Amino acid sequence: VGGATPEDDLLARRDAAFAPVQEHYYENPPRIERGWRHHMVSAEGRSYLDMVNNVTPLGHAHPRVEQAISRQLRRLNTNSRFHYAAVVQFTERLAALLPAPLDTVFLVNSGSEAVDLAIRLAIGATGQHDVVALREAYHGWTYASDAVSTSLQDNPNALATRPSWVHTVDSPNSYRGRWRGEQADNYALEAVQVIDELAASGRPAGAFLSESYYGNAGGVALPEGYLPQVYAAVRRHGGLAIADEIQVGYGRLGTWFWGFEQQQAVPDIVCVAKAMGNGHPLGAVITTRAVADRYRDQGYFFSSTGGSPVSSVAGLTVLDTLRDEDLQGNAVRTGAHLKAKLQALAEHHPIIGAVHGSGLYLGLELVRDRHTLEPATEETAELCERMLHLGVIVQPTGDHLNILKIKPPLCIDPAGADFFADTLDRALTELGHRGTGGHTR
Ligand code: PMP
Repeated sequence: VGGATPEDDLLARRDAAFAPVQEHYYENPPRIERGWRHHMVSAEGRSYLDMVNNVTPLGHAHPRVEQAISRQLRRLNTNSRFHYAAVVQFTERLAALLPAPLDTVFLVNSGSEAVDLAIRLAIGATGQHDVVALREAYHGWTYASDAVSTSLQDNPNALATRPSWVHTVDSPNSYRGRWRGEQADNYALEAVQVIDELAASGRPAGAFLSESYYGNAGGVALPEGYLPQVYAAVRRHGGLAIADEIQVGYGRLGTWFWGFEQQQAVPDIVCVAKAMGNGHPLGAVITTRAVADRYRDQGYFFSSTGGSPVSSVAGLTVLDTLRDEDLQGNAVRTGAHLKAKLQALAEHHPIIGAVHGSGLYLGLELVRDRHTLEPATEETAELCERMLHLGVIVQPTGDHLNILKIKPPLCIDPAGADFFADTLDRALTELGHRGTGGHTR
């Protein structure tokens, strides 16, 4: 008894070696050394249900990806200035997933790079240097993507420290925002007003940028007609519409491959990453030939590893496997099964204020009072710790950290969904008995 264990030592070394901003999940995180499908396995051999990994949509350690990457690594890996088939096939496949006129692909290595490039493309193509973004958003860590990241949970000073070219509009949250339910139409009107006023002041926006389904706020659908109205406004003043599909796109929403389809809107520039490589670093920006052409004399683009032979093969294999294993279909079916289970839990646990989301991007919002919507922040943190002990990895999101973001690998089966719902039921019951949550109106 007593004394530091080798595990404590490894964690202390991690904290010492990593920059202090690089936090880890949980105060005492299990050391995860293996993954398989929608499970993670600790060094101690304990298995956890993984409810957070939208980086591995096919599931952990998918053999088809492993084999494809290994084979390509043995043959060739180099930068994308060389001419090889995989990058051509991959860009064609990506472009084919998007509606006209989005036909031109830039390949990068991450979501932050994709958003950064998207902003530069919009500014370059329009000559307009201002950008309108949503509050409560996260888009990345590079200079431009961080500038439009407004989530106070990630940076409490986010709004006060934006560069002057960033303008923000209300997070269009119809559950807890300023306008709720039927009144949610006001969000679009207000955003249009901000865009019109910017133009009137002589600084028309070069871009409006948002997630097309509000992932960072817990999987909240944008109010109906929001994007068509806001996109029309920004275009009226010569600007472009950028959709960040990094979390919500690529089949996760089930019914729609892209979030913007749910809004019946077509952006001018689409950013993708995360899911594309099943964990291998991969990102893309897809736009029109006209926008890409106009950028040519405005800025430079070359990414040494973006679209490398290995990255292209990883990307192609992910697309093949998504199709062959019908994982978007599984997001529809298992997602609906899971959502129904969570909605049933809400009948017994008053702390559940709402079940947001679509397919396998769900958000369980916890509140102390269903009328005031006071966020159950501490309870959510406690719940996540308890779920870990019970064998489930799930994490909070949103500016109040009171929403469980539920975005497991798309291969999760009904048994996995049932285990999650049953474990949550147990943990919520315990929380209610201790009187910290639940038992409100
Ligand atoms: N946009 C959104 C919506 C994201 O969720 C993230 C990552 N959490 C990013 C951009 C940045 O992606 P990356 O971490 O790959 O740079």
